[in-house]
Amino acid sequence: MKTSSSAGSNTNIRERLGLRPIINVSGTMTALGASIIVPEAISAMAEMAPQWVEMDDLQRAASTVIARLTGGEAGFITACSASGITMAIAGAMTGTSLLAIERLPDDTGGLKSEVIIQLGHLVNYGAPLDQSVRVAGARVVPAGTVGATQDYHLREAINERTAAGLYVVTHHTAQYGMLSLEEFCEICHARGVPVIVDAASEYDLRGFLARGADIVIYSGHKFLGGPTSGIVTGRKDLVRSAYLQNRGVARAMKVGKESIAGAMAALEAWEKRDHAGIRQREKAALDLWKQSLQGMEGISAEIIPDPTANPLDRLQVFVRPESRFTAAGLASVLAAGSPPIIVRDHEVELGYFFLDPCNLHPGEAEIVAGQLHSVLTSKDRPADAMKTVRKDSSGALRWPD
Ligand SMILES: *Cc1c(COP(=O)(O)O)cnc(C)c1O
Repeated sequence: MKTSSSAGSNTNIRERLGLRPIINVSGTMTALGASIIVPEAISAMAEMAPQWVEMDDLQRAASTVIARLTGGEAGFITACSASGITMAIAGAMTGTSLLAIERLPDDTGGLKSEVIIQLGHLVNYGAPLDQSVRVAGARVVPAGTVGATQDYHLREAINERTAAGLYVVTHHTAQYGMLSLEEFCEICHARGVPVIVDAASEYDLRGFLARGADIVIYSGHKFLGGPTSGIVTGRKDLVRSAYLQNRGVARAMKVGKESIAGAMAALEAWEKRDHAGIRQREKAALDLWKQSLQGMEGISAEIIPDPTANPLDRLQVFVRPESRFTAAGLASVLAAGSPPIIVRDHEVELGYFFLDPCNLHPGEAEIVAGQLHSVLTSKDRPADAMKTVRKDSSGALRWPD
């Protein structure tokens, strides 16, 4: 008899659960399961799962590893970057007052409770960034306009209620006209305001602290290949105040011992990873895809470096009407194919999408190349080929149906 939970089953868990065998050329996406967890982290999680541990001691051990890798004075693991942001901000508000920590988020009497963010940094990563601030009980004070912040926008936004400045590093922010991290830190620090950096999706584990940030937050489950988790690192007093939020608002963002152990193992594996070898495999995938699109009518493709200078390239695929596809149509046909291929489509209304080579299992690059070729050369036009982009959230509202 086939049972859906038997460990010895030789069917793939996706098959047993009735899930589509997707190929992810989109990126490290929460909606697609966040990451391929590295083997070192998987064994650490399995080893930790049946053990009792003293969680503060486990987090002390994590602090040592995080400090070594990031150059921070201390650090801890949390549920994800979004919770790390909330905890860092709550910590900047309460300091080590245990009573203030219990009173958040609605009772902020006597606390600094404003957080300044450049308007061009108010992104959405699956939920709006400003909500991670508001969950702490803080109020967002936007500085500047969507495409430009001047020094005085930030300087004049600071007052005696300012708890922190929040700086965001991602391709989702406005990519020009913003204050640099150095300028942002200089203006905040002149008034004694700590700077918290959301670097959830960045490879550089040391640079933002080195450039002046007081606290930096990374995702454990993006490039690090850890379990779903967040890493908070920086100035010891601020990290401690952030950590203490586990006794307050962060109780609803609890991280398990297995994820702490897994994130630590992923950090240590990152130190030893063959980064050049990975880069080479990614380059081979990009070259293969580019080649498979060569000479296709209405299609052109270019290898493009990551917009925030992570050591990573993607293939930008331009889709013009002569291909008899729209970019959205081609993306949707690939996603409906067998196997389903999920491309990076957040700018698809501009007539292109990206193929991201960071999350491939062996053999998948070739499958993607084959599918691209067969979809584009097929005589049958799928109904969706010329699909146009419409904002439509009705699918989300049907869950679980
Ligand atoms: C992914 C991301 C987040 C959210 O990270 P989680 O760890 O998934 O909560 C926040 N900020 C930025 C810039 C991100 O890229």
